[in-house]
Amino acid sequence: MITWNKEHVWRIRIMIQDIEPSRLDNTYKPGTPLAEDNVLLFDKDGRLLAGIQDGRIRFTTRKDVPEEDTVYLFSVDGDKYFTVLKSAEEVLPGFEFRTVRELRDAGSGKELFAAFTAYHLWRWYADNRRCGRCGGENKCHGTERALQCSCCGHVIYPRINPAVIVGVIKGDSILITRYRKGYAHNALVAGFTEIGETLEQTVQREVMEETGVSVHNIRYYKSQPWGMAQDLLTGFYCDADEDAVIRMDANELKYAEWVGREDIVLQPNNLSLTNEMMRNFKEGKEV
Ligand SMILES: [Zn+2]
Repeated sequence: MITWNKEHVWRIRIMIQDIEPSRLDNTYKPGTPLAEDNVLLFDKDGRLLAGIQDGRIRFTTRKDVPEEDTVYLFSVDGDKYFTVLKSAEEVLPGFEFRTVRELRDAGSGKELFAAFTAYHLWRWYADNRRCGRCGGENKCHGTERALQCSCCGHVIYPRINPAVIVGVIKGDSILITRYRKGYAHNALVAGFTEIGETLEQTVQREVMEETGVSVHNIRYYKSQPWGMAQDLLTGFYCDADEDAVIRMDANELKYAEWVGREDIVLQPNNLSLTNEMMRNFKEGKEV
């Protein structure tokens, strides 16, 4: 039986990036790791070599990989994080390769946020080994978080994908969806911003495409860095037009229905902005 104490309740009510009083410092300060500094290792599929102990994620350190070339990522409370761009193959004792989705279910706290953020950066480095202009080899820039082509000098900066999460309200109900593939729990309409549109237009288009519902009174709620998908999620509530009828896109979704406040089933934890937005509505907060 699970006993709920104050810490449990506190931990399940905060989103992944809410690590206060801890703080992630993403200032780029290139350097070389010391023995105790975290050096995160990913395999060719982007799985992170990590240990899990009492729900906390444990990372490999410089001592585990004394020879590898490293790239500085960020620090959390002064603890430095580096990564190795070469794919890791060897499993070290006490560690296992895990996807960030598996870590999401197993870990919590500042280490989980560090893992998500490290994955976002690692993925960007891994996907940009060569210059998109001339095919030359990209090298880390000396002073900025950037990659520079060793042939033509082209500089590229980290890529973050803007996306929206939408709480569509109709009276005392909210539009709940479930994806056809991937995450199995309840969600809200979500999607990426296309080039040339505003976030508000993304909201209107995504809700229409996925569910056939037209909306108005679009209002911003909060944002969330979601390194698992290299996203910056922006949460919006809006109201369904009075005559709106759900016509679900069965290629993307397997479920899209109006669900009354009291009937909303939340996700297993509150790491995601989606869950906080569903919970706000369930608890009767003004949205
Ligand atoms: Zn180039």
